[in-house]
Formats: sequence, structure tokens, C-alpha cells
Amino acid sequence: LSEKQELDQLEERCQQPLVGTDTMQQFDELPISRKTISGLKRANFIKMTDIQRKALPLGLCGKDILGAAKTGSGKTLAFLVPMIEMLYRQKWGPMDGLGALVISPTRELAVQIFEVLRKIGREHSFSAGLIIGGKDWKIERELITKMNILVCTPGRLLQHMDQSAGFDCDNLQLLVLDEADRILDMGFKKTVNAIVENLPRHRQTMLFSATQTKSVKDLARLSLKDPEYVAVHEKS
Ligand code: ADP
Ligand code: MG
Repeated sequence: LSEKQELDQLEERCQQPLVGTDTMQQFDELPISRKTISGLKRANFIKMTDIQRKALPLGLCGKDILGAAKTGSGKTLAFLVPMIEMLYRQKWGPMDGLGALVISPTRELAVQIFEVLRKIGREHSFSAGLIIGGKDWKIERELITKMNILVCTPGRLLQHMDQSAGFDCDNLQLLVLDEADRILDMGFKKTVNAIVENLPRHRQTMLFSATQTKSVKDLARLSLKDPEYVAVHEKS
């Protein structure tokens, strides 16, 4: 199978988002590129968790997602896989600029997401950077202009949006708000709203949260368009 044939197949399978996906168990049953499947396998990700089984078929087909599942349920791959696949299918390259943005409440969580991205994306050629402060401002400012994917904490990202000339989000295709409940608990509501206002309206957005509070729903209303609600409840 050539790369062109693979891309055509992926495209075609995504025309019918929901067909047969309710019985799928493994990542390699989904319309996902060989490069990503291989990255997942090397990291020992074979079988999907519940939230991944529910969210991936939708996310891969470009839907906005409001996802709820408790900590430890596997939400990271539920957004990283569609993100990588979207850029791959669009043949995203160095000249295309920032294509995807992940916002995480804390530095530690951002670093964890970045590590998973590095593992499963190892066969892809996108550039990815971490913007979490604590690094030299000039180095970050330089970095952000060259990256296809950024994983950020809210405060630091907004600081760059306000102060770094040359930081351009006009081409952004996908936004992820991870651990949205914690982002709001930490007092980042205004910051996130200001970030979202700086982004192109035509984009895919995925919002994940462990809990669905009123403020999470408010943020969802502001940032998502006709979202699919995907929830996994604890079994007793
Ligand atoms: P959450 O964001 O929902 O708290 P994470 O994405 O951090 O959950 O995943 C929790 C743990 O489960 C991590 O250690 C991760 O490596 C592991 N994990 C996630 N998805 C899978 C999977 N499909 N197969 C095996 N382990 C997984
Ligand atoms: Mg998480």
C-alpha cells in the first residue's frame, strides 16, 4: 500500500464515522495510519480503553468532543491520536505552522502529554514543543514560531499570544482543552476564554474533563461546536 493509497483509504473510512465502531476493541481496527499504529504498538498500546473506544471514532472523523471520564481512564490518547492523524492526513509540514494546540492545567501534566506524544508520534515528522514557562522567554518565543504542535499551560500561552510578535495561530486546525475542570479550578477561566478568542473559528475542538461541572459546561458552550458528548461512568 502506497502512502497515497493509505491516505485515500483513511479518508474514505472517515466518510462513515460510526459504522461498526461499537464492536471495535483495538487501535488497529480504526482508520489510523500505519505510522501511528506502529508508534502505539511500540508503546504497548494495543487495546483501547472505554473512553478511547467511544471518543476515537468521532474525533478521527473531525467531530467536536465533550469528553468525561475519571482520571486514569486514558483520555490522553483519546485526543492525541486524532490530533496526529488530522495533521498526517492534511500532509502538514514545516511551512504550515501551528496546526494543533493542547492546553493543560499544570506543567507536570503538560510534560506527561508531551512524553506520550513523543512516543506514539515517533514515526511522524511533525515538530512539537512544550510551552510551560520556567524556560528562557526568548528560547520559547523562538520555538513557538517553528512548531506544528504545542502543548501549553494557559498563562504562558496567553503571554506569548499577547507579547510575541510572529506567533501566528491563523492556520490552527485543532484545539484540545485537557482536564478542563482543573483548568477552571485553578482560576484560568478568563485566560482560556482569551486564548480561544485568539483562535480561528473553523477548527476541531476536544474538551476533556474528569467531572462535568457548570463551569465546564459554560466553557464547552464557548469553545465547542455541536459537540458529541462522550462519557464513561464508573462501574461498581
Ligand atoms: P487520564 O488522562 O484519563 O487520567 P491517561 O491518558 O493519563 O488517563 O492514562 C492513564 C494511564 O493508562 C497511563 O499510564 C497510560 O499509559 C495508560 N493507558 C492509557 N490508554 C491505554 C491503553 N489503551 N492501553 C494500555 N494502557 C493505557
Ligand atoms: Mg489526563
